[in-house]
Amino acid sequence: LVALTGVNKHFGELHVLKDINLSIAKGEVVVVIGPSGSGKSTLCRAINRLEPIDEGTITLDGQPLPSEGKALAKLRADVGMVFQSFNLFAHKTILQNVTLGPCKVRKTDPKVAEQRAMELLERVGVANQAAKFPAQLSGGQQQRVAIARALAMDPKVILFDEPTSALDPEMIQEVLEVMIDLAKQGMTMVVVTHEMGFARTAANRVVFMADGEIVEQASPEEFFTNPTSRRAQDFLGKIL
Ligand code: ATP
Ligand code: MG
Repeated sequence: LVALTGVNKHFGELHVLKDINLSIAKGEVVVVIGPSGSGKSTLCRAINRLEPIDEGTITLDGQPLPSEGKALAKLRADVGMVFQSFNLFAHKTILQNVTLGPCKVRKTDPKVAEQRAMELLERVGVANQAAKFPAQLSGGQQQRVAIARALAMDPKVILFDEPTSALDPEMIQEVLEVMIDLAKQGMTMVVVTHEMGFARTAANRVVFMADGEIVEQASPEEFFTNPTSRRAQDFLGKIL
């Protein structure tokens, strides 16, 4: 579904993505882990074309990512993204946050979009908050709205960049449960996270990055019980 081939990216002198080759199959859940600054966010942003790359190709459904115009807007709808910092529209209600994208980008009829939004808010457990504004919700609730907003676009894949890192501990689980549910239902997901429990439960594959490289990738069982690289062993030693 998504394929990165020979992807390189620099920020000035800094080589942040080094010859990345990665393909993600439909329905696959890929968890990306690695030390701070290893390029995990940049990788996600590249897949969404929030960040242009210097070299290599990224394809979605076999098509190179568009770089501008309507095609780019459609790409952003097809490749959903959920950030650490929720990024909801502060001056729109929860319901409007979820209907806005479908109405604007997908040209969905407003009534239809609303009905679908309510179903999605129901699914993530915040339907009773639909008329409120983001600031009136807890972090965990806001993040579940952000997931509903991504889902409203009927994305082909959703990228999650540390979706629970900004949350109070008691709210982490409620967000992870929504994500585990999505994974079970066959959503294609790329998830940058430090939640190793999630990786063990929901991931088909763990990708370990360090210094802009994919150092190692394996099934969660294999990776956690028998990491082969020194850098992965060191990393796991620090976080587990
Ligand atoms: P973290 O776990 O802290 O979120 P990360 O693995 O997501 O880290 P990235 O955010 O992808 O890492 O950053 C990779 C490197 O690129 C870092 O050294 C970072 O400082 C640098 N970097 C990221 N964005 C930019 C930017 N817009 N301009 C310059 N350098 C950047
Ligand atoms: Mg990051």
